[in-house]
Amino acid sequence: MKKIGFTTTIPVEIVFASNNIPVDLNNIFITSKSPYKFLEYAEDNGIPRNSCNWIKGIYTAVMKRSVDEVIAVTQGDCSNTHALIELFESEGIKVHPFGYPFGNENPYQFLKNEILTICKRLNVSFDKVIKVKDRIDKIRRKLKILDKMTIDGKVSGFENHLWLVTSTDFNGDFETYEKELDSFIEKATSRNVADNNIRLGFIGVPPIFDNIYQFIEEKGASVVFNEVQRQFSIPSNSEDYVQRYLDYTYPYDIFKRIEDIKIQVRDRKIDGIIHYVQSFCYRQIQDVIIKKSLDVPIITIEGNDPGNIDARTKIRLESFIEMLNERKN
Ligand code: SF4
Repeated sequence: MKKIGFTTTIPVEIVFASNNIPVDLNNIFITSKSPYKFLEYAEDNGIPRNSCNWIKGIYTAVMKRSVDEVIAVTQGDCSNTHALIELFESEGIKVHPFGYPFGNENPYQFLKNEILTICKRLNVSFDKVIKVKDRIDKIRRKLKILDKMTIDGKVSGFENHLWLVTSTDFNGDFETYEKELDSFIEKATSRNVADNNIRLGFIGVPPIFDNIYQFIEEKGASVVFNEVQRQFSIPSNSEDYVQRYLDYTYPYDIFKRIEDIKIQVRDRKIDGIIHYVQSFCYRQIQDVIIKKSLDVPIITIEGNDPGNIDARTKIRLESFIEMLNERKN
């Protein structure tokens, strides 16, 4: 049984079906006791200081041999991944490239071929993957219940973030993940409903900060939508396995994401949006289109280092929530 790391969400059922352990490299970095050490190690080894810190974290996780092999998403995620692949290969680490279709004439066929190639590389049949998918679907349905409980005020924005973000690899063991999820949902069901006046949505890559959700809630607002984390949980209802990963909006163009965000803003009665952007990330440029396309107040928050949010960000968030309160009242 090998640990197969990946740089961003992939069709994880393939790894489980191949009897290996999937490991989201981002989660290794951010849940480590000292993520700063990951950054230091990467910089000491020559990764430029002005690279995105998630890239440094992934680099260190792999170089420290937290995994045996890597599935690197070459299309639909991050252009930095190409250079990472070269670095890993130069160190003798086995890398399997995987791409989501971008601008292809037949995206369905492209994605199907990519999925079948990974199946072949991991020596597992597509039929076996579908059997595992049917089992994991039970858990994906429970994650939808959890997401609905967030809308209804029984599950906090941070809890929602944690459960959805860890669904990329189900912490390497979906049976245990499901048991813990069942027990969490059972406890949360008997909670009182949070009655915060302001309902916020978080869009963009998951924030690198530890305490941003807690700070927002202390200021009387609730996060009722985590855009990318929800997408990581593959919310598509399609029975077609390939189609499901085409419906997943994160690896495709911004317009597909905006369509999804608009629906969620309406259905979740969202008062304002926090657009989180990571320093040195090309996705920051998309902020321009997002602000033009959504007709709900938006604040853009940039983060670089793991840890707590800085004083300036706190003041900006506080003013944003105050403004939304005045607007609503
Ligand atoms: S935050 Fe941006 S630059 Fe960093 S890994 Fe993700 S896509 Fe790449």
